[in-house]
Amino acid sequence: MPETIFSKILRGEIPCHKVYEDDHVLAFLDINPISRGHTLVIPKESAATLDQLSDEASAAIGRVLPRLARAVLAVTGAPAYNVLQNNGASAHQAVFHVHFHIIPKHADGSGLGIGWPSGKLDDGSALAAQIAGKL
Ligand code: 5GP
Repeated sequence: MPETIFSKILRGEIPCHKVYEDDHVLAFLDINPISRGHTLVIPKESAATLDQLSDEASAAIGRVLPRLARAVLAVTGAPAYNVLQNNGASAHQAVFHVHFHIIPKHADGSGLGIGWPSGKLDDGSALAAQIAGKL
């Protein structure tokens, strides 16, 4: 596992504005927020991308994500939010330690802008069977 800025934050070598911590998870404010309340949720387990994360660490994240989202919404007053999780440089991942972004979408429009180039599903049966076969 390569050393990342988040490893340093986890070890307390770099400060952060912590909002939550338990045995498996740390959540803190993003240093360059897309909108007010932009929060990062990371596992303490070292994994670069989500597919490399253990079931236990992912479960620990999943357990607290809704609670964190509720707290961010309650404090910021945002009516909506995105949970973003980037994997791989071409998918906009800059820090190679798994992290989930909670990004409030505020009434003034600030928040995540998304391009959604949707297409048409032509081979759904075959594709679903192929993916299911890999599980
Ligand atoms: P990614 O593009 O990898 O999904 O997002 C990485 C995020 O980490 C960015 O939103 C960036 O602002 C945030 N970030 C990078 N370095 C630091 C840091 O030292 N402290 C905090 N709090 N956030 C950071």
